[in-house]
Amino acid sequence: MTNPRLMIDGALNAGAELALDEAQARHVGTVLRLDTGDALRVFNAADGEWRARVVAKSKRGMSVQVEDFLRPARAAPDLDLLFAPVKRHATDLIVEKATELGVRRMRPVLTQRTIAETVRLDRLQTIAREAAEQTERFDAPEILEAMPLAKAVDGWDAARPLIYADEAGDDAGEPWGGERGKARPIAGALNSWTASVSPAGAKVAGEDAGGPRKLALLIGPEGGFTPQERRMLRGLPYVIPVSLGPRILRAETAVIAGLSVIQSVWGDWRAP
Ligand code: SAH
Repeated sequence: MTNPRLMIDGALNAGAELALDEAQARHVGTVLRLDTGDALRVFNAADGEWRARVVAKSKRGMSVQVEDFLRPARAAPDLDLLFAPVKRHATDLIVEKATELGVRRMRPVLTQRTIAETVRLDRLQTIAREAAEQTERFDAPEILEAMPLAKAVDGWDAARPLIYADEAGDDAGEPWGGERGKARPIAGALNSWTASVSPAGAKVAGEDAGGPRKLALLIGPEGGFTPQERRMLRGLPYVIPVSLGPRILRAETAVIAGLSVIQSVWGDWRAP
């Protein structure tokens, strides 16, 4: 089994001795059952990953000593997720899976049909942090405060196209009505859009000339977006409505499916 990984907020360097905070000490001591002398890995986005060892364990706390450098940090693609919070278990799942899938930032957005229990940011941050430790990331995604959808897109950075998962863009009474206005399949939309910016295609997001450097994905609540919200979103120049196929997915499935396609077509699932 590989050594457990622990995200550390402070600086990491050879020889440094770190006192773990209470939650981490509990996690390392009680959940992972590490004892004095046991090896682990510590990491953060600034200093990368280091081998470390437990040097003290008592009722009062735990400390580890940093030994040698293992590997430099690598950043996740500049990819945001905006999601309408759903039931607690599903929201937790969204945060965990989006962390595994390499999202850099997440914001819960309150839509007209959002039926959410209160969104507990600290809880979601803990889930993201633990998922980051598991998934060999170097940073935990930032969880931003929940806000109404209209406010979240107000003052949006137009350089970050917003991929809007639209399950039913075929309202006959609207300009996007009927077959012609239906949202395009996500892979095609990303491909053609990338191609129109950079015919050669960007190899690594954010590094090559051309190609989008940053992206965001928007997933709606269980009840979907209202016609009014759809109209608002479709009127924004940086919004790209996309389809995730002929079946209606649960919000959490839509998050996982959408992020997987984005990472494959645009993000860091492509060969470097
Ligand atoms: N309006 C639907 C359910 C919404 S599904 C209903 O009540 O029947 C929850 C969210 O997942 C949607 O708002 C959308 O963002 C996304 N989603 C689910 N299936 C999708 C699909 N096939 N294409 C695009 N987006 C989809």
